[in-house]
Parts: sequence; C-alpha cells; structure tokens
Amino acid sequence: MELNRRDFVRRAVLVSSSILFPSHLLARRKEERWVPAYEKLEREGKLAQRIEQAYAIFEKCQLCPRMCGVNRKKGEKGFCRAPLNPVVFSYHPHFGEELSVVGQNGSGTIFFSNCNLRCIFCQNWPIAHEGKGKEIRDEDLAEMMLSLQKIGCHNVNLVTPTHVMPNILNATRIALKKGLHIPLFYNTSGYERVEILKILDSIVDIYKPDVKYMDSDKAEKYSTGAKDYPEVVKKAVLEMHRQVGVHQVDRRGIVVRGVMIRHLVMPNRVAGTEKFVKWVAEALPKNTYVNIMAQYRVEYKAFEHPEIARGITVQEFMEAMDWARQYGLTNLDPQSKALWEFYRQRRSG
Ligand code: SF4
Repeated sequence: MELNRRDFVRRAVLVSSSILFPSHLLARRKEERWVPAYEKLEREGKLAQRIEQAYAIFEKCQLCPRMCGVNRKKGEKGFCRAPLNPVVFSYHPHFGEELSVVGQNGSGTIFFSNCNLRCIFCQNWPIAHEGKGKEIRDEDLAEMMLSLQKIGCHNVNLVTPTHVMPNILNATRIALKKGLHIPLFYNTSGYERVEILKILDSIVDIYKPDVKYMDSDKAEKYSTGAKDYPEVVKKAVLEMHRQVGVHQVDRRGIVVRGVMIRHLVMPNRVAGTEKFVKWVAEALPKNTYVNIMAQYRVEYKAFEHPEIARGITVQEFMEAMDWARQYGLTNLDPQSKALWEFYRQRRSG
C-alpha cells in the first residue's frame, strides 16, 4: 500500500508519540491528578446516601456526644444552640495554621458559629459561645468553598464543624458538581462520636483534632461538663487515623491526607501533656503529626479560675516538648520544634 505524504506524517507522529508518551505513561499522567475522597465516593454513587443519613440525625440530634435528642428540623436547639442551617462567622484564606496546611496561598478557612464543647478559655468565644455570625443556606456554603478554591486556597478548612456536619456534606456535593477539588479539612475540638465520624469515612481527607485534656475532672470543669472528653477524644482520634492514616504531603509540602493532632499546653499541667504524648506513642504510629502548642492565653472566663488564669511558662512548654521526644514521637510540628530549639539555645548560651 502506498502512503501519501499526509498519511506518512500522521503515522510518523503517531509512532513517535507512542514512543515518547507510551499509553501506560499517558494513563499514569491522567491518574496523577489528586482526587479528593468525596469525589471518589460520588463516583461510586454513595455520597448522596451519606448526606441523607447525616440529615436524618437532625430529627433527633445526636451529632455529638452531648446527645441532646432535639429535633433541629423543627427549630429545636440543643446544647450547641445551633439552628438547622449553618451559621458562619467568616471565611477567608488563613495563614495562622501549620505550615503544611497553609502552603503558599493559605488554608480556605470557614469559621462556623456555635460549638458543642464550649471551653471556658475559648479564644473564639464570641463565635463559639455567643453564636455571632450569619445564618446561610447549604448552597451559600458551597459557594464559599468554591470561592476559597478559586483564590488558590489549598483546602477547605472547616473550623468547629461537628454540629453542622450534614450541611457540610450537602454543600460539598453541591460544590463538587461545580468543580470543587481541594481536600476537606475537618478542624475539630475532638469531641466527636465514632458513629458520626464513620459517616465521614471516604469524604474527609484531613482531620485535625484537638486533644485538650487527659483527665475527666479537668474536662468537666473547663469544658462545660464534658467529663467523658478524654475517653471520647481518644476513640475519635483512633477512628480518624483508621480512615486517613498519618500526615501525607504532596510535592509542594502541602498536606493532602492524614491526621494532625493539636495539643495546647496549659498552665499547671491541666492538659495532662505527659499522659497525652504517652498515649499517642502507644496507640498510634510514632510518626503521627503532633503539634504541641505554646499559645495558651487567658481568655473569656479563664481569669475566674486561678489554675488557668495565667499564660504558660517557658519551663512548661519545654517539659511538654521534652516528654514528646522522650516518648519517641518523631513528627512534631516544625514551628514548635523551632521554638523549643530557640529556648534550648538561650538556656545553654
Ligand atoms: S450537635 Fe448540638 S444539638 Fe446536636 S447533640 Fe451536639 S450539642 Fe446537641
């Protein structure tokens, strides 16, 4: 068969492109786009079902361990005082989080009003305790997610999401249909029910739970009667780890999946830091990301309680970091490590 020039060129291009870009490499390039968990679940046809399951809980609200049982669809309010619709205080790129969360363009943070834990030293008390913010529809929440993505944020950072989880899932699906593709980042006090977290399995890619206390009497006193907090948070963190594993970053060093635990050092060892790091070292991989934070300050009603009515000392922060290292934790937050190093050098200098 004779080839004309056009056929020859076409075949030559096809042959050379198959040498330069063999089909298995092309397939891999396609697969390389990072796909958020919620998108995969939607492809499997299961996301809508989860939303339905989550929304049904509003009829007898048991979204968190307070288990109020109120019918939020009928306007009843429980301990968190949250209505059926989400109330949002603000949304914007946030640069005050961990480096792998913030990246170059910031974390797309949505601050939800109201809270199911309500600590008396809360730094966001006008939002969490007093519910300041604007009530919106799930469709508006979806638009917020998309606008944060549009300006380059690396994730949708949902701050205090527990009591609005069904709305978040619904908004995520609406936004997904309009092109949302950045990971959901569940930024929680850790006061979560395992049964509820299971609904988030294969939807949320990054969990950032606080672990605030290891002693129930402290939790009861400083977090509005949440005596069961230590037992609840430990089970919740284990479930989060089962779902998403340890902290993973992309080529730019930006987190795409995993658990990042936050622990705020409190004055007079109120937070039970040694017990906390020991528990992490025994219950989770040693390379679990742990941020031991030094920024406790006296807020809201903390000044009424002498035990927590002061900032922490350098000594209190240093002993916390020393315990973490002694128990073998290998993935401590870089900024905390730098602070530890700074004080260490000042002491030895
Ligand atoms: S989310 Fe609010 S209403 Fe529902 S159980 Fe928790 S505190 Fe109660």
